[in-house]
Amino acid sequence: MLTPPATVIQQPLTLASEGPRVRKDGRRLVPLRFGLHDPVMHNTTRSHEIFAAAQRLMPGGVSSPVRAFKSVGGQPIVFDRVKGAYAWDVDGNRYIDYVGSWGPAICGHAHPEVIGALREALEKGTSFGAPCALENTLAEMVIDAVPSVEMVRFVNSGTEACMAVLRLMRAFTGREKVIKFEGCYHGHADMFLVKAGSGVATLGLPDSPGVPRSVTANTLTAPYNCLESVKALFAEHPGEIAGVILEPVVGNAGFITPEPGFLEGLRELTREHGALLVLDEVMTGFRISYGGAQAKFGVTPDLTTLGKVIGGGLPVGAYGGRADIMEMVAPAGPMYQAGTLSGNPLAMTAGIKTLELLKQPGTYERLEAITQRLTAGLLEAAREAGVPICGGSVSAMFGFFLCPGPVRNFEEAKATDTARFAKLHRAMLERGVYLAPSSYEAGFTSLAHSDADVEATISAFQEAFALVA
Ligand SMILES: *Cc1c(COP(=O)(O)O)cnc(C)c1O
Repeated sequence: MLTPPATVIQQPLTLASEGPRVRKDGRRLVPLRFGLHDPVMHNTTRSHEIFAAAQRLMPGGVSSPVRAFKSVGGQPIVFDRVKGAYAWDVDGNRYIDYVGSWGPAICGHAHPEVIGALREALEKGTSFGAPCALENTLAEMVIDAVPSVEMVRFVNSGTEACMAVLRLMRAFTGREKVIKFEGCYHGHADMFLVKAGSGVATLGLPDSPGVPRSVTANTLTAPYNCLESVKALFAEHPGEIAGVILEPVVGNAGFITPEPGFLEGLRELTREHGALLVLDEVMTGFRISYGGAQAKFGVTPDLTTLGKVIGGGLPVGAYGGRADIMEMVAPAGPMYQAGTLSGNPLAMTAGIKTLELLKQPGTYERLEAITQRLTAGLLEAAREAGVPICGGSVSAMFGFFLCPGPVRNFEEAKATDTARFAKLHRAMLERGVYLAPSSYEAGFTSLAHSDADVEATISAFQEAFALVA
């Protein structure tokens, strides 16, 4: 039974960790519930045909690298449609989906109210290129919800939001250097492609060719959860650092939580050195809580980037923060940033509807409860099978590493058994569960995931872990 916890956890969670556990009698197998030895009927012929054609048309066959199953091997699954907690592939297989379009689908895919509102908005036109009242509505919702945001600018992606916030950090402080953390991903702008997470980590790429050294010379990096390194960087570059940007809960190097005092320490350090603190909440915004990670952990940055959930499945990003900083953005101020499709009525509508749904009482308690149940179940399944694992969840975001842990930064995340993860990923796919095809990505739940979906997923994990033990 899933009962919401009495209180929502306000403190950073540390990762539950446990080493390999073999049963007393030396056996490592869990009881098989689904008949593991039956042949698994998982035909993906049509997916393979479409992907083969795609590879001749687009680099790697995809529009974004993480969608290709490079690190887990095998062929990616081509989706036909999505609804609620499920995705159906072009061969008719159904999956319980824990990728959720990489974050936006927190209310479930194709929510009827979002689709209904979009239908109406569509009739009035898809893009105005002029002010539209819906921008005010979504702006007010974001400003009301996110503690640091007094003014906001809408853009079309998280990448765009992070690019703009970087320029703004520099414009406001008159300084050029920026500190980011190893394994954090802030989109694909030049400056951020240094020790980046997500697809860069998944593919094990060195820092990308095409990025001028002169540009990344101003990007300083530190290990996540290590205040001492940040202190040292400030000491080494006095008066030169514009700010610090980070994922307040990491989702792009696998799932890593901030240790108690880390976010607070960064807040103090940046203040002390006249630098800005930027929380990249593109993933965590409206997911970790309605006010994002900053509301959950009680640390207010100077600037915040948003994306994913606030677009409700359409392309949206945003950056916002202190009014005195945001007033620097053109046309209010001199820092230039613009966008033809920014704030278009369709994207605003999907965002507004999604936030309205999330604002209902009990949503985050529900998300927290199912995600905790799922995480507890999968960790237990791994331990039963004797597979080393550590992992955890915060609200509707979860993750695990196939190593004893605990994992506090990207270096430690690399101890995960990626070969075993690849087998596990395939076994889960064959059992109708779609996980992110990489050890270095977080998992996402939604309001559409039922208790039965979660229990079925745990059963699939029990079989899959037994297979890969
Ligand atoms: C996804 C993500 C981005 C990039 O957003 P896109 O919309 O993919 O450009 C930036 N930062 C974080 C933390 C993200 O998770």
